[in-house]
Amino acid sequence: MSRIELNLDRAELDTCVSCGLCLPDCPTYRVTGVDAASPRGRITLMRAVNDGGAPITEEFVEAMTSCVQCRGCETACPSGVPFGHLMEDTRTALAAGTAITPRWQRAAMAVLGHHRLLLAGSSLLAVAQRFRLVPSRRLGLPARLPIRRPTLQSSGDDVYLFTGCVMDAWQRDVHVATKKVIEATGAGVTPTGAGAACCGALHTHAGLTPTARKYALATIEAMPLDRPILVNSAGCGAALKDYGRLLDTPAAHEFVERVVDVSEWLAPRIDLLDLDATGLRVAIQDPCHLRHVQKAHLPVRTVLAALSADVVELDDEGLCCGAGGAYSVLEPELAGSIRARKLESIERAAPDIVASANPGCSIHLANAGVRVAHPMQIVAEALR
Ligand code: SF4
Ligand code: SF4
Repeated sequence: MSRIELNLDRAELDTCVSCGLCLPDCPTYRVTGVDAASPRGRITLMRAVNDGGAPITEEFVEAMTSCVQCRGCETACPSGVPFGHLMEDTRTALAAGTAITPRWQRAAMAVLGHHRLLLAGSSLLAVAQRFRLVPSRRLGLPARLPIRRPTLQSSGDDVYLFTGCVMDAWQRDVHVATKKVIEATGAGVTPTGAGAACCGALHTHAGLTPTARKYALATIEAMPLDRPILVNSAGCGAALKDYGRLLDTPAAHEFVERVVDVSEWLAPRIDLLDLDATGLRVAIQDPCHLRHVQKAHLPVRTVLAALSADVVELDDEGLCCGAGGAYSVLEPELAGSIRARKLESIERAAPDIVASANPGCSIHLANAGVRVAHPMQIVAEALR
């Protein structure tokens, strides 16, 4: 393979002392038992290429692309290794050298920034799905894509609701529920729609950083003034909160301060809602980008507790479910093995329903037969 310079931050690489304390929290290590599929092994390989001039081999590429980018290792690491940044920078170099993210994947991801095209394409896909012309499971699609979507109209200008790309096309009903809950607190909501077509999270994961920067600039421009920006997708929220690093401009750093997960925003306002008690036993599945990246997974519990729900914790210490954005499509075997562990944990919790605040996780789990809903859907159902 041709020579590719990784240009990783030496100080970031040096924070890893190879202690291995992160290994039990790495989903790919847990299912393979292979060091090259662990955070420690991946960092060792990055160092060998970055500092030692080792060639980029197929094994190296496999070790990098098999990472779910869940960042469970960051939570576990006592040395504070910024693994997510190291992996993003590695993938940026690999994608620039065309060692990863083939053309078909780049073409598919290009559609995400064209909102109307994405909605129209999704509707066509939904029709094809009804005629069983689409291998939905293999493509990681929801079992029943919507052909039509409810409209989302602005109800005021207190807060923005970031609606994004795939989630808006496939899970508009979650946005409707989220908007209803926010409005029940008395706040007016501006859904972003086509104005902020895509946050660029999937592009960052795939190493397409220049495209992610382009989308980040457009997203910032679409949400002027100083209103809070509420996000109900953990992956999008993590991406929006990282624009300061991605763009490193004063506008980006200011923007980041306004971004908040919808449960973070709602938890201190939950007493404003008039809620019926629910008798549901709800297991909380923490999306990695809420728990390990945003560190904003606790407010979901406050919100659900207000419904008198029987909230149960899964016993896997927040291990990834294997969805990982496009990971479940690109690495179906590993994603399936990782999910199998999550399913065992859910089975032990025996819930009526699983609450998950990320579209990728909810689709991945629903495709395995789990009854799953966004926390805002559960709250919306309980509104009097
Ligand atoms: S990433 Fe952190 S926990 Fe894992 S081996 Fe390196 S220093 Fe240890
Ligand atoms: S990001 Fe997740 S999959 Fe990748 S090395 Fe860290 S714990 Fe493992």
